[in-house]
Amino acid sequence: MARIVRVARSSSLFGFGNRFYSTSAEASHASSSPSPLFHGGGASRVAAKDRNVQWVFLGCPGVGKGTYASRLSTLLGVPHIATGDLVREELASSGPLSQKLSEIVNQGKLVSDEIIVDLLSKRLEAGEAKGESGFILDGFPRTMRQAEILGDVTDIDLVVNLKLPEEVLVEKCLGRRTCNQCGKGFNIAHINLKGENGRPAISMDPLLPPPQCMSKLITRADDTEEVVKARLRIYSETSQPLEEYYRSKGKLMEFDLPGGIPESWPRLLEALRLDDYEEKQSAVA
Ligand code: ADP
Repeated sequence: MARIVRVARSSSLFGFGNRFYSTSAEASHASSSPSPLFHGGGASRVAAKDRNVQWVFLGCPGVGKGTYASRLSTLLGVPHIATGDLVREELASSGPLSQKLSEIVNQGKLVSDEIIVDLLSKRLEAGEAKGESGFILDGFPRTMRQAEILGDVTDIDLVVNLKLPEEVLVEKCLGRRTCNQCGKGFNIAHINLKGENGRPAISMDPLLPPPQCMSKLITRADDTEEVVKARLRIYSETSQPLEEYYRSKGKLMEFDLPGGIPESWPRLLEALRLDDYEEKQSAVA
């Protein structure tokens, strides 16, 4: 089995019931006060070998964090938690926050750390109640403050930083579509970027929907050219410092996507040393 996959079940994610699980090596972290923004008041730290993976996916809007995080979550049996999805669920709920959130999101700005941590805490609590363990976070943390809050309450094993050239990111965001019935994501963009100045060529075929979804495709309100460019700018100002933060902790794995899913997925599994794991899972299935 691949080195980084730990599938032993643990009893808690963030220890909302005031429980602490720590090895002696981790005790110094665990004794720091957990952030008051997280509900509950406790923080759990289970040794990595005794629990499921706790990974973070970083990367610009449109890079494909959701696609690869979701595939890995299925492969490893851990929840894929995308804070963008939590925000969109809140928007769709027409709850008290929905009007405020829609103004922020539709300008490409970031939701406040307080709101996003609150949404994430609720999601993790609900998952814990269902017996979920481990996670792949997508879109969180996005600010240094969020990274510090996360570091106060749990240990992150690995941070995967997905990369694509900016021209491709804009085209991919503009090509994104979701089926409003089955919820699956597609992309109608044909990417064909020539190689130049030492940069390899990149080509990606569109990921087209099956005929039954074709008439039900919707585009995210924040996937317009103007808002995508604002999101890319905000990402480089606010989220890029996170790369250095996790690099300095020795947790960052950089991954330049070589193309679309058919080329990138096997290479990502190889980089994560999960290629043999996928073969074993398929053999059992
Ligand atoms: P993207 O394609 O930009 O990666 P997401 O689906 O991750 O989009 O997020 C959509 C929007 O939700 C963001 O533009 C932002 O307004 C809000 N959002 C999501 N995650 C966070 C976060 N961690 N902190 C602040 N705002 C967030």
